Amino acid sequence: MTSTRSQPRQTVQKEAIRQALAEAPGFISAQDLHQRLEEAGTRAGLATVYRQLGALVTAGEADTIPIAGGQLYRACAIGNHHHHLVCESCGNAVEIDPPSEEWIRSAAAANGYTITRHVLEVFGLCPTCAAQPTEVR
Ligand SMILES: [Zn+2]
Ligand SMILES: [Zn+2]
Ligand SMILES: [Zn+2]
Repeated sequence: MTSTRSQPRQTVQKEAIRQALAEAPGFISAQDLHQRLEEAGTRAGLATVYRQLGALVTAGEADTIPIAGGQLYRACAIGNHHHHLVCESCGNAVEIDPPSEEWIRSAAAANGYTITRHVLEVFGLCPTCAAQPTEVR
């Protein structure tokens, strides 16, 4: 058996997933992205969406942050390591400078740890969501 195909379906799905992620306003879950794809007429299984999102993260083309109950993803132009301010209401996010990468290194070294990775995201409400009169205070 050979795996040579003229029109690999996976490539089409990968591009659709990449584009849908780029068009999302902010951080989005794999489930929500899957729904967006279906609404746009792209047929891709949820497992495929997860796999392709993982590939984009590995390739440095997308950010991922852990949240309660799963992961959120976002297309990100910045290829290198960075941090975000994330709106918990709408998923919008902005890139921010970390307080001190050196502090992270020294804190780990002081405890004899070798760092393999770290995640630092700040959650809150963006100005738009904060200004929304959702409840009377
Ligand atoms: Zn980013
Ligand atoms: Zn960092
Ligand atoms: Zn917001």
